[in-house]
Amino acid sequence: MSIEDKLNLIRSILPVGVQLVAVSKTRSDEEILEAYNAGQRHFGENKVQELVRKWESLPKDIEWHFIGHLQSNKVKFIAPFIALIHAADSLKILKTINEEARRAERKIPCLLQFHIASEEGKFGFLPEEADTLFTGNDLAELDHIVFSGVMGMATFTDDSSQINMEFSTLKGLFDKLKTTFFQQNDTFCEISMGMSDDYLLAIENGSTMVRIGSTIFGERCVAGK
Ligand SMILES: *Cc1c(COP(=O)(O)O)cnc(C)c1O
Repeated sequence: MSIEDKLNLIRSILPVGVQLVAVSKTRSDEEILEAYNAGQRHFGENKVQELVRKWESLPKDIEWHFIGHLQSNKVKFIAPFIALIHAADSLKILKTINEEARRAERKIPCLLQFHIASEEGKFGFLPEEADTLFTGNDLAELDHIVFSGVMGMATFTDDSSQINMEFSTLKGLFDKLKTTFFQQNDTFCEISMGMSDDYLLAIENGSTMVRIGSTIFGERCVAGK
């Protein structure tokens, strides 16, 4: 199947209101253009250098999503153009994003990444830390950030009941933050969860944004992961 056929297949499955982010890390400009020519405009990358190079050479109406762990010293390179940062995972990175957004004279939409997986070492906020963020004194300072929702990655496992539970936890966290802090704020609306292997489960649990790579472009070599 061509990239276009695979995109169309996924589109036919996604319910209205669920946005597809085509994860294009490690893919060539030609592969990305094939998806672009099939109408795809949202692409996700997880390495700053690779993203900046692609942003420079590919069509300017692409909306670039940063989906990986972001290092403070690299925020400045993507601040002028990034459409959405999915994995804001600490107060420190939020402060840096805020500063670089101010410098770029724009506001940057961000999702808070939550640690929902059972594995150690995946990044993200704990629920208590998010409550502290939204009730504490740091919030007023973050005036160049648009808090747009939450993101999470499930455990890498074949156990779909566990994945289901983790996605449902993220949906619960979103609902609680929404009702407690963002009731009047329409921009806090995204739940970014679901990848090639688990996006159907994610949708059942209320995902609004799925990040899909290999189902569109084929398997990546392990080094690209
Ligand atoms: C690579 C990646 C994806 C896409 O993974 P696939 O299994 O290829 O769909 C989604 N989200 C994040 C954060 C990733 O790093």
